[in-house]
Amino acid sequence: MSPQAAWLAELRRLLALVAVALTVGWLIGWPWLLLSAALLALTVRWAWQMRRLLRWLQDPSQEPPEALGFWGALYDRLYQLQRKASARETELRSRLDYLQDSLSSMHDGAVMVSAGGAIEWSNEAAQRLLGLRYPADRGQALLNLVRLPAFHRYYIAGAFEDPLQLRMQGDREQTLQFAITLFGNGDRLVFVRDITKEAHLEQMRRDFVGNVSHELRTPLTVIKGYLEMILANAQQLEPRFQRPLEQMSQQTDRMENLLKDLLWLSRLESVRTQTRREQVDIAALLEELVDELRTLYPERALTLQSDTRVKIPGDYRELHSAVSNLILNAFKYSKDDSLVTVSWRQQGGELLLSVQDQGIGIDAVHIPRLTERFYRVDDSRSSATGGTGLGLAIVKHVAAGHRAELRIASLPGKGSTFTLAFRG
Ligand code: ADP
Repeated sequence: MSPQAAWLAELRRLLALVAVALTVGWLIGWPWLLLSAALLALTVRWAWQMRRLLRWLQDPSQEPPEALGFWGALYDRLYQLQRKASARETELRSRLDYLQDSLSSMHDGAVMVSAGGAIEWSNEAAQRLLGLRYPADRGQALLNLVRLPAFHRYYIAGAFEDPLQLRMQGDREQTLQFAITLFGNGDRLVFVRDITKEAHLEQMRRDFVGNVSHELRTPLTVIKGYLEMILANAQQLEPRFQRPLEQMSQQTDRMENLLKDLLWLSRLESVRTQTRREQVDIAALLEELVDELRTLYPERALTLQSDTRVKIPGDYRELHSAVSNLILNAFKYSKDDSLVTVSWRQQGGELLLSVQDQGIGIDAVHIPRLTERFYRVDDSRSSATGGTGLGLAIVKHVAAGHRAELRIASLPGKGSTFTLAFRG
């Protein structure tokens, strides 16, 4: 019976009871007394049923009490709802277990942290890598248990686009990579990976490039010295040796530049700028650099527009090398009489350092790859200009070390603008 029908039947029964009590009472002369007795009996029955209902609700997994009519329909309905809810709960629990199992078996560590910073859950890898305990550490503040100052700064700064790499000093040297994603209402999922092997290989690669460049410098200096000496006495040379020797001298200069750039790049890669910051007055840096370049290239038109005197935390030498690479590129890839503009301004919460030229420009297909080492749009032209193919790789590294973005806008035939965008 549906609850609605059961309710109507109960109502009918109530009316019938009232009618019978009044009729019998009227026949024997006490209608109100009988009516009151009938209603009292009914109230007692309802109270008894309610007590049974309450008792059953204390443990609804039991079969519901037997009852007829309205009360029976009510018990059935409640029992059905309770069965549905517990089936749903079982399903959700098994899904949650499945999810937790898959996260638990992950090779990478995962820690769920509430918006307030308390650990909600962590998997085995996180416990191993960070020395956490679960469930013992549940509810504890993650930052109290992971006592790494760089991780604290990363966690609090809230800029999680790039992962954080940390070299841990302990019994065993280890490099960990942290990545954080936000979900729900400010909750965080912290992933931690052991990248010791990858970091070691990367270090070996850097050391190799650095060492080779360093080792090649000495023989090159000797060759260069002798060549300069021979060319200084050119009048004693047989004319057929003149040109080959000049070319050898040019190529040794090129090689020297290449080694210089390679060494500088490997230094940029190995030393993180964040660790030794000074307040750099970019406007003053640009004035000095522009003066130097005007002296070296008096034929070039170079203008400077500094609209702000804001200083930024960074490394003077690195920023100097990045901007000078950009300006020298602007010279190399534009005509001698065209204008190169360097500007420093504040705009929409950012600080922008731009170098703009009116040169040959770059086709859009090349732009994403320009900062790769030795990537060149036009090999013959770049070699002719004496470029090393490392300039923009250096600029990109300096930008990364200063948490700046390198933006490139260019139109072939019209010119290019290279911008370093610093957070304001
Ligand atoms: P290179 O030493 O060859 O100039 P870079 O890394 O500095 O190496 O630049 C990579 C390539 O990007 C260059 O070979 C050139 O093709 C292109 N490029 C860089 N700057 C400019 C510019 N201002 N205008 C046009 N092309 C440029």
